[in-house]
Parts: sequence; C-alpha cells; structure tokens
Amino acid sequence: NRGIGDWIHRRRIKSAGNVAVISAAGELTYDDWAVRIDRLADALSRRGVRQGDRVAYLGENHPSFLESLFAVGSLGAVFVPLNTRLAPPEITFALNDSGSTVLLASATMEPLAVAGSRGTGVGLLALVQDGTPVPAERRDGDLEAVDYEQLLAGGEPVRADVAVGLDDLAIILYTSGTTGKPKGAMLTHGNLTWNSFNVITDMDIMSDSVSLMIAPMFHVASLGMGALPTLLKGGTLVLEPRFEPGRVLELIEKHRATFISGVPTTYQLLAEHPDWESADISSLGNLTCGGSAVPLRVLEAYEKKGLSFTNGYGMTETSPGATTLPARYSRPKQGSSGLQQFHTFVRIVDPMGQVCPPGEVGEIQVQGPNVIKAYWNREDATADSFVEAEDGSWLKTGDMGYRDEEGFVFISDRLKDMIISGGENIYPAQVEQEISQLEAVAAAAVIGVPDEKWGEVPKAVIVVREGHELTEEQVIGHLNGRLARYKIPKSVVFTEEMPRTASGKIRKPDLRRQFG
Ligand code: ATP
Ligand code: MG
Repeated sequence: NRGIGDWIHRRRIKSAGNVAVISAAGELTYDDWAVRIDRLADALSRRGVRQGDRVAYLGENHPSFLESLFAVGSLGAVFVPLNTRLAPPEITFALNDSGSTVLLASATMEPLAVAGSRGTGVGLLALVQDGTPVPAERRDGDLEAVDYEQLLAGGEPVRADVAVGLDDLAIILYTSGTTGKPKGAMLTHGNLTWNSFNVITDMDIMSDSVSLMIAPMFHVASLGMGALPTLLKGGTLVLEPRFEPGRVLELIEKHRATFISGVPTTYQLLAEHPDWESADISSLGNLTCGGSAVPLRVLEAYEKKGLSFTNGYGMTETSPGATTLPARYSRPKQGSSGLQQFHTFVRIVDPMGQVCPPGEVGEIQVQGPNVIKAYWNREDATADSFVEAEDGSWLKTGDMGYRDEEGFVFISDRLKDMIISGGENIYPAQVEQEISQLEAVAAAAVIGVPDEKWGEVPKAVIVVREGHELTEEQVIGHLNGRLARYKIPKSVVFTEEMPRTASGKIRKPDLRRQFG
C-alpha cells in the first residue's frame, strides 16, 4: 500500500509512543491509532466497502475524521468530506454525485445526515458520539444507522491487503461553489503526499510540531496545510470542533502549539479578544494565513508579540498549496501570496496563451504532482480547466495575478469577477479592500453592472456594521484620490446580508442577479 492509508503505520515504526492526536475525546498515540484504523478498515470491509467505493464524512474536527480517511484509504476506497454548513439538498447532491454508499457523521449532524441521504445510495450511517448520545441501532427505510464506536469494535485489528498506488483516487472534495456549481476535485494519494512534502519543506513542519487545527478539515486548506503534513512528520494534532477565540488562546498556551492556520478574520478575532494581551503564544513559530493577503493592521498586532506570518494561495484542485510567502517576506512583500511551492510550478499567461513578463497581469496557471488531473463526473469542466503546453499540462485557475521581478505572485482577482469598463480592467478585490478600510463596513463586494457608455461600471454592495451609519457619498468620498476614477463605483447599495457559500465566500453570481 503506497497510499496515505498506510501513513500512520509507517509513522508508528518511528514515532510509536508519540501522541498523534489530542481532542475532547482524549489522546491517541501513533500505536493506538494504527490499531483503531485497522479495526475500522476491517469493519468497513465486512460491511461491503471495496476498492474504489465512496465513503462520505459529515462532521466537525474530530479524530474520527482522519481515522476514517486513513481506514478508507487503506482499503483503496475513496473519502468524500462534506461541509457541515451545507443545506440538505446540497448534501444530497454531493452524495449522489459521488455515489457514496456509506456515510459517517457526528451525532450532532444526524438530522442533516438523515435528511441529506434520503433518496441517495447511502445504506449505512455510522454516528460518532461527540457529546451528543447516539440512538440505538435502527432502520429508516433503506438506511441503517449504527454507532461508530460499535462498528469499529466489530472489526479485527488486521492490516488491509489491498494494492494502492499514488495515482489512485483518495478523496473527492467539492470546491466551494463560489463561481458556479461545486465540482468534485479528484485528489489522488500522490497529490496529497506531494502537497504534504511541499508544506513540510516550505513551512518547517517538524516531528515535534504541535498543530492546532481550528479550521474544519473538510476544507482542503486545513487538511492539506495542517493535518496531513503534521502526521507525515510524526507530530501532534490538537483538534478543535469550532473556533472560539478565547479557547484558542488557552489551547495554544496549554499545548505549546507551534502551528495554526486561518484566514485574516481568524487572526483579527484572536487579536481583539480580551485575553490577547496576557496570552503567551510565543510557541507559535508559524502563523499561516490563506484566502487573502494579511491586512497591515493584523500584521502589526502580531509583530508586537514577535510573530510573523506565512501567507499562501491555493485551491481545492492543488491539494491545496500553490504558493507560499515565507515569514521573513511578510513585510517587504506585503500583499503578495509568495513564491511557487517547492515542487509546484506557477506561470502567468495572457489570453493568447503567451507567458507574461513580470508585472503584467494574466491568468495564474499551476502544474505539479499536487495538482488534480480531472473533476469527478465533469468532463466539461475538466476540458475547460487544463491546457496542454510543450512542458506539460497546466491547470487554469481562473484567478488573475502577476509576478514581480523576483517571482513573487500577487493575486488580482478571479477572471469571472473582473469588470471591463471603457476598455480598462478593474479587479473588484482591490476596490473592496479600500472600501473595507472604512470602520462602518462589515462586508463589501463590487460587481459590474451594464452601462450604455462604458459597457460595464462598478457597483458596490455593502453591509454596514451594527451601530454604524454610512452613506453612498461617504463611500465614494473615501475612494476619491485613493483609486483611479474608473475604478470608483458609480453607485452604492446597502444590504442586510451577503449571499455566501458554505465556506463563507460571497457568491458574486447571486449578487449580480440581485443587483445587476
Ligand atoms: P469554485 O471553484 O467552486 O467556484 P472556489 O474557487 O472558491 O469555488 P476553493 O477551491 O475553496 O473554491 O477556493 C480557491 C480559490 O480561493 C482560489 O481559486 C482563489 O480565487 C481564492 N484564493 C485562495 N487563496 C487566496 C489568496 N491567498 N488570495 C486571494 N485569493 C485566494
Ligand atoms: Mg475554484
């Protein structure tokens, strides 16, 4: 078995007594964990799970998430992580699209799991006790519900005897669905392994690393940048089911965590917490921030504690790392998402397919052993997303950006969100960042609306922070002089709430429908 399903076993030889995972459910050493993974694999196999079958998981961070990922992987079956914030029809879509036959879920998710599996091929639902008691075994039509621990205990601790190669499928992970319907990215064992090597190399994960996992692992950012590389090195994971700033500060201190990752808001909320001043978080060598560049004021708050940031750019399709900004460049290259990862290659291409010179904005394309080769069941999307060149196949990310003379990548925005006004390109992300400087702004999005004279003009949609007031004139007045005239929204509308994906991203297609 060459896949990730064998990792804990291989690690066990070197790190047997090391603690692999700490959670509310207790501690597990690499030794303990390898045995549980074998039992679960055997139990699933007795329940008919074979090589290539799909097994879905619906739950917050919990050891059973990784336990089932490894058990499923050791059988050569395919893991399908689901976002807990999806609505029942979205769960149904993912279960049907992936053709999952088994669903593992936390007990708190039972209603969503049951509603979502109705009318799908899921026949077995195993519920993980996470503080919520699991009801006794029962049947509901074709669906049989059992207790996860009982299921696991029914398996023998024998190693699965299945040949799994690096090119075999390990995970089907659905993209966020920010630009359209979610697509099932087909992550192979090799994709996940290579991404972990990149992270270990570029972010200094060590065998004594303690990674505090606060972002849900059903996002590839959390799984791929934190959990998997840490386990590959034999380090320790601390799993938190949800993000509570005060508790996170406490856990960093208690476990002397060396690694956490989050988005800019995560770090801002930590720095705004009343315990921030007194908290000793000096053990954190690596603060990893993804999703967008770290705003200067956040950077400054952490610098006061002697900490700096690694920034990163990536996507589900790259397992997920594409670029990283080393911590020592967080100041001099503020706003950049960094250099291509150690064994991943990035190029910037113009609409004619020519590679752009430094400073010129084009589409970001990625190549490397961490990049998927296809989307599940989506030949159309697969054909649209890759381009063949003399030096191999490149993933078209749909993101626009440029590289500076030294190769540092700066993300402009998504191609689909770009506004063309009077022949000039406008990247809404830049305008949104300027608007967000206003204290009264809770969230801002800029979209293009049709215009007789200019073809398209920018329009701002803003959610005002509670207890604040803001007018269109104030917004435009703030932007005057900060941005070129053509980038300044011609109109501003205020709304109560932004339409968001289950991963919290603003759905621009919905905004365009509503306000365009
Ligand atoms: P879909 O592909 O279904 O429309 P999605 O692209 O939002 O959804 P993800 O794979 O979760 O799905 O997100 C990857 C995207 O997030 C990238 O393509 C990019 O647009 C954005 N992104 C990631 N990191 C950064 C970053 N550091 N700066 C700016 N944007 C980023
Ligand atoms: Mg995408």
